[in-house]
Amino acid sequence: MSGSGRHAVVLGASIAGLLAARVLSDHFDKVTVVERDQLPDDAESRKGVPQDRHGHALLPRGVQILDELFPTLSDKMAADGVPRPQHGTEIWRQFGVTVLNRGGSEKIPGLQPSRPYLDSKIRDRIRRLPNVDMVDDCPVLGLTVAASEDRINGVKIAPRDEDEQALTADLVVDATGRGGRTPVWLRELGYPTPPETESAIDLAYMSRSMRLRPGALDGRRLVLILPGPGQPRILGLFEHEDNRHMVTLGGYADDHPPADLKDFQAFAASIAPGFVTKALSEAEWLDEPRRHHFPAGRRRHYEKLHRFPEGLLVIGDGMCSFNPQYGQGMTVAALEALALRDALTAGPQDLSRRYFTAAAKVIDPVWQMVGSADRAQLGQPQPLAERVIGAYMSRLHAASQKDESLARDFDAVSGLLQPPSSLFKPAVMWRVLAGNLTR
Ligand SMILES: Cc1cc2nc3c(=O)[nH]c(=O)nc-3n(C[C@H](O)[C@H](O)[C@H](O)COP(=O)(O)OP(=O)(O)OC[C@H]3O[C@@H](n4cnc5c(N)ncnc54)[C@H](O)[C@@H]3O)c2cc1C
Repeated sequence: MSGSGRHAVVLGASIAGLLAARVLSDHFDKVTVVERDQLPDDAESRKGVPQDRHGHALLPRGVQILDELFPTLSDKMAADGVPRPQHGTEIWRQFGVTVLNRGGSEKIPGLQPSRPYLDSKIRDRIRRLPNVDMVDDCPVLGLTVAASEDRINGVKIAPRDEDEQALTADLVVDATGRGGRTPVWLRELGYPTPPETESAIDLAYMSRSMRLRPGALDGRRLVLILPGPGQPRILGLFEHEDNRHMVTLGGYADDHPPADLKDFQAFAASIAPGFVTKALSEAEWLDEPRRHHFPAGRRRHYEKLHRFPEGLLVIGDGMCSFNPQYGQGMTVAALEALALRDALTAGPQDLSRRYFTAAAKVIDPVWQMVGSADRAQLGQPQPLAERVIGAYMSRLHAASQKDESLARDFDAVSGLLQPPSSLFKPAVMWRVLAGNLTR
């Protein structure tokens, strides 16, 4: 233990809260995770995580961090039947109408548990930590402050069937997600609130689970069709554990996907390759369609605040929630957990400023990458540099149809293993040029 404190309280027991609890357990005598929902023992959907009813995958960098924090966890999940596509041939990836090369070489794998399954396995590991308690069915109502010290010293909680209580803490980490109320609580306590940036996208998802005929996808375990020039819709077909599949359709503005099964299938067929359309036409549908509306990406710039109380941090979607079509949210939360670990390891002095600065460095490139793709997709004004980069990326995708090595370079960036700048190295740019000249 670093001795940086005795009791840390984490608000929210979804992915960011659980990863934060794991990191904090190495630095505090005791960690308490407080969750509003009643936590299931098994892999069940929860009210507090409505997106868990839609297709999720963990990017390769997220899998690496998961294994760093919980050794062997991804191997165990894979052994239990969670898909871990390792070869290019197992993934169909398409931008607009351009299909990226899927040669057979090995890649650093992502992981495809359904979201309730992933959360349940991480919860199991957290429950085994001797110094972590999970208190569920217990909403957090606000923060308590030691005004004389300019420090948050705990939270107000409302355990079910009990009176409101105060829970004291040396450090509070807010992981209550996109709707997190830290800005409101800060204002109520007389602190400035973080500046917010929003990227309005009006995206809606519609998802259904199903069983497919064995071999229906010809060895593919993930089909991902994302918007690109001439094609604005989204389709994600995920193999999950238990030989189940989930298909998630997405559309922007006046092109939201329909719920009715026939229309749902027609929406899918409008963009899917033939083998997917056929697989869906033969599917055994397992549940009713579920809708999720995502009005805007939202970033709260805690790193820009000049006055912020000690004893409080924020992690996960409460700091930044991205357009979900690139599947980055959980991996960014994992990267923030590493930023938290490093900040704690360096000692308690000036913790919040150091942590928020490090977290912003994690978020910046992803926010920029997603924002520029969103603006291009929605025809919003873009600075010249962004338009040039967008044009380059379209050519990179085009050249990646035939060039497996280029597709792998792109995979490394979209898997958050490499920074976007790696796609602008001379050797990569040369392949993009050569690939487009020979097309
Ligand atoms: C449709 C959709 C698909 C997505 N697909 C992917 C994907 O494929 N890959 C990926 O990496 N990311 C994906 N994401 C993003 C990902 O779901 C989020 O980034 C991630 O869940 C954020 O985790 P979090 O812990 O910060 O917040 P959340 O998962 O939102 O959890 C917040 C937690 O806080 C609890 N809580 C809230 N208020 C209180 C309170 N007052 N007191 C106590 N507890 C409280 C909630 O019950 C919940 O448990 C997707 C998102 C959407 C919307």
